[in-house]
Amino acid sequence: MRNLFIVLFVAQACSPSSEKTAENVPETTEKKAFTFAGITASNQFDGARLNDFVQLSESAFQATISPESIPVNASAWFSFKIWSNEKKAIQLSLNYTHHKHRFIPKLSKDGKNWNSFQGQLALNHDSTTVTFNVTVSPDTLWISAQEVFSSEITYDWVDSFIALKSFISKKSAGKSVLNQDVFVVSSESEETKSSAVLIARQHPPEVPGGSIAFKSFFENIMSDSELAISFREKFNLYVFPLINPDGSDLGNWRHNANGVDLNRDWQDFTQPETQIVRDFVASKTEKEGKVISFGIDFHTSYNGPYLLILDSANEANMKTKIIPNWIEGVGDDPLNMNDYRRRDQALPYCYNWFYNQLGVEAVTLEEGDEIDRDTIRARATLYADKWMESMLASLDE
Ligand SMILES: [Zn+2]
Repeated sequence: MRNLFIVLFVAQACSPSSEKTAENVPETTEKKAFTFAGITASNQFDGARLNDFVQLSESAFQATISPESIPVNASAWFSFKIWSNEKKAIQLSLNYTHHKHRFIPKLSKDGKNWNSFQGQLALNHDSTTVTFNVTVSPDTLWISAQEVFSSEITYDWVDSFIALKSFISKKSAGKSVLNQDVFVVSSESEETKSSAVLIARQHPPEVPGGSIAFKSFFENIMSDSELAISFREKFNLYVFPLINPDGSDLGNWRHNANGVDLNRDWQDFTQPETQIVRDFVASKTEKEGKVISFGIDFHTSYNGPYLLILDSANEANMKTKIIPNWIEGVGDDPLNMNDYRRRDQALPYCYNWFYNQLGVEAVTLEEGDEIDRDTIRARATLYADKWMESMLASLDE
């Protein structure tokens, strides 16, 4: 018994998690169904986040929602299923521990089709709890911060879209912290050298830009339109539809499975997910002679939509003017974001890595949390068209 104890102790001391600082160790949420008074709430699916669920009174229930690790960006992602023995109106509170409410709940009856909650949301004095009325029934209701785009759901649409496109290939570019594939989807030819890289979902909750806008953008540049076909004759495309599969499946607020914000890791490259992109791009440029011409990183902000573009000095230094021509191409279309922000490009963001290391133009495309989804899709389609036009024009500059 004593020997066994020593062995266990040594194994514990050597576990990888003991090397991390205490506040940075991601918490694992127990997968379970909570049942009170005939009402069940469950987090037993990928993308879920529900840390606890209790009954407060006969018809009032509270879900505890806490982040994977702290400190964390204020992006209180929640996602769970709820059902009851009998149809019943309840008062539901989401308690974000010490963190603030951000997302209007999205509801779904099938986990695929979603609508924003239309009723009243009551916040407590410091916005750390939101309360609303909802009707539960024996039919499962999904309640989620945004639409669920787990790795399985994301690759279901990628696979069904590319199934009819023989020019697109999909392969694993490497493994995430939890040993999931990080896929790259490519359209390329041996003779074409100019290439663009698209990256989506570094931040798990950022579904409106990171999955919905990204999907429309991707489907447009891979479409059979004349513009897309001419574009793909001149440019290879290397696309990462889900760069943080672990964080997305864990229902994380911000981080990967190591508790790291991937979009602050583009200088140190401490994480497998950022290393995968860096090494993939290096193999394309160094071994195959490809030339990266542009990078786009898809995100979502509470005050989006906007594009993060190069700072003025860097823009002035660029030989290509893809971003200014892109913005001009969108012109005064009603779908124009009308918000183009410049940042200090010393920060370890993905789009700065494109500029600082590869010497090319790049943007972070940010949609807004609660923008109407049809608007997001239409805007992404427009921006994809105008981007392809500007990319093609850059070849003549
Ligand atoms: Zn983001």
